[in-house]
Amino acid sequence: MSPEAFRAAGYAAIDWIVRYLEQIESYPVRSRAEPGQLRRRLPRAAPEQGESFDDVLRDLDELILPGITHWQSPGFFAYFPANSSPPGILGELLSVGLGVQGMMWVTSPAATELESHVLDWLVGALGLPEAFLCTGAGGGVIQDSASSAALCALVAAREQTRGEGGLRRLRLYASTQAHSSIAKGAKIAGFEPDQLRLIEVDDALAMRPDALAAAIEADVADGVRPCFVCATVGTTATTAIDPVPAIAEICRPHGVWLHVDGAYAGSAAICPELRWVNEGLDQVDSYCFNPHKWLLTPFDCTVLWVADRRPLIDAMRIDPDYLHNAASASEAVIDYRDWHVPLGRRFRALKLWTVLRSYGLQGLRDHVRRHVQLAQQLAERIDAHPRLERLAPTRLGLVCFRLRASDEDNQRLLDALNDSGALYLTHARVHDRLFLRMAVGGRLTEARHVEAAWAQIVSRVGDPG
Ligand SMILES: *Cc1c(COP(=O)(O)O)cnc(C)c1O
Repeated sequence: MSPEAFRAAGYAAIDWIVRYLEQIESYPVRSRAEPGQLRRRLPRAAPEQGESFDDVLRDLDELILPGITHWQSPGFFAYFPANSSPPGILGELLSVGLGVQGMMWVTSPAATELESHVLDWLVGALGLPEAFLCTGAGGGVIQDSASSAALCALVAAREQTRGEGGLRRLRLYASTQAHSSIAKGAKIAGFEPDQLRLIEVDDALAMRPDALAAAIEADVADGVRPCFVCATVGTTATTAIDPVPAIAEICRPHGVWLHVDGAYAGSAAICPELRWVNEGLDQVDSYCFNPHKWLLTPFDCTVLWVADRRPLIDAMRIDPDYLHNAASASEAVIDYRDWHVPLGRRFRALKLWTVLRSYGLQGLRDHVRRHVQLAQQLAERIDAHPRLERLAPTRLGLVCFRLRASDEDNQRLLDALNDSGALYLTHARVHDRLFLRMAVGGRLTEARHVEAAWAQIVSRVGDPG
C-alpha cells in the first residue's frame, strides 16, 4: 500500500467508523448470527493476490456487521459497558501508527514515561492514595485485563510467602461473589481448588469480615499460611461493595496481601461524590480497575496499582542478557516488562492520554454521573411496579431486577427483550434466583434509550397499574 493509497484508505476507514456509529441504533443490539454463518461465507483460503481496501470495507458491511453485537449501541445494557470513544479510537490508531513495542524504557522512552505520567494523573483524578504514584515506592501499570492484574497480584503474594513451607501451605480468600478471574488466576498460579476459600456474604452480598477473620484464624490454627485476599468493590453480579477497611484490618496482622478488584466500579471515583468506592484503598497492597469498562477508553486498558512495586517486580522479573542496556542498569527508569506476564507491550497509554485530554475530568464526570442518575430513575420505576422487584441496591449504573415469578418466566422475559433487537440485557444468579441485569453505561446511552428499554419491559410485564 503506497502512502497515497494508505491515506485514501485511512480516510475511508474513518468515514466507515463515523457512519457506523451514526447508524448504530438501526442494528439489532445482539447479533442474530447463527453458528458458522460467517465462516460459510468467507473464502476457504487467503487471497493469492492482494485485494483493494474498498473490497475489504464492502465485506465489513456485508459479512462482518451481521455477526457483530453492538457494544457501543445505546441499547446495550448487557454485562458491563465496554466504552469506546472517538478520542480513544484515535489514540489507539496513533498507537498502532507508531507501532512501538514498549517492553522497556529504552525501547521507546516516551511509551514508558507517558504511561507512568497518565497513571499518576489518574491517582489525582480518582482521589487514590499517594502510595500508588510512580514517583514513590509503588506505581501503576497498564495491563490487558483485570484478570491479568489479579494474576500478577496473586503471583507477587505467592512469591512473598511461598518460602515459608511451599505453595501447598498457602491459602487464598475471596467472597462467593468475587469474579471468576480470581479462581482462574489461582488455577494458573498453581493452586489447588481447595486452597481458595470462598467467604460468605451478608444480605447486601458483601464479604462478611467476621467470616473472613474466622477462616483466616482457623487456617493459622491448622498450620497453613494465609497468603492473599481479594476484596471486590462492585461485584459483577450486583455491584456489591466488600468492606475494604475492615478486611484490611484482618489481613495486616497476618501479613496477607490484599488486592482490590474494582474493575467496573473504580471509574466512579472520577466523581468526588462517589469516592466512597475508594474507601480503605490506602491500606491495600494492590488495586485494579478498568478504564475500558466505564471511562471511555477502548478495550484493552486495565490499570494495576501497587503500594510497593518491589514484590511485583521480584515476582515478574527475568533478566536475559540480550535485554541488558545502560538505562535499565542505571535503575533510573521503569521497565514495565517486569510488571506483568508478557514481555512485549502495546503503547496503551496513548489512548488513555487522548481520552483524558479530550474529555477533561469534567467530561468524564458528566459521563459517569449521567448513567448513575439514569440507573437511579430506572430503579425507582421498578420499585413502583407491582410485578417487578429489585435484587440489590442500585449504587452506580447497574440495576438488578426480576419478575415476581419463576426463573423460567424471568428467562422468557430476558429472551423476549433480547430477541426484540432494541436492547440487550444479561442475567446473573444469587441465592439461586435468576435475575436480569441492566447496566447503564454506554457513551451514547441517553435518557430516551432508558425510556425505550423501560417501554420494552412494560410491554411484556404490563403497566405499573
Ligand atoms: C469485568 C470484571 C472483571 C474482569 O475483567 P477483565 O478485564 O475482562 O478481565 C473482573 N472483576 C470484576 C469485578 C469485573 O466486573
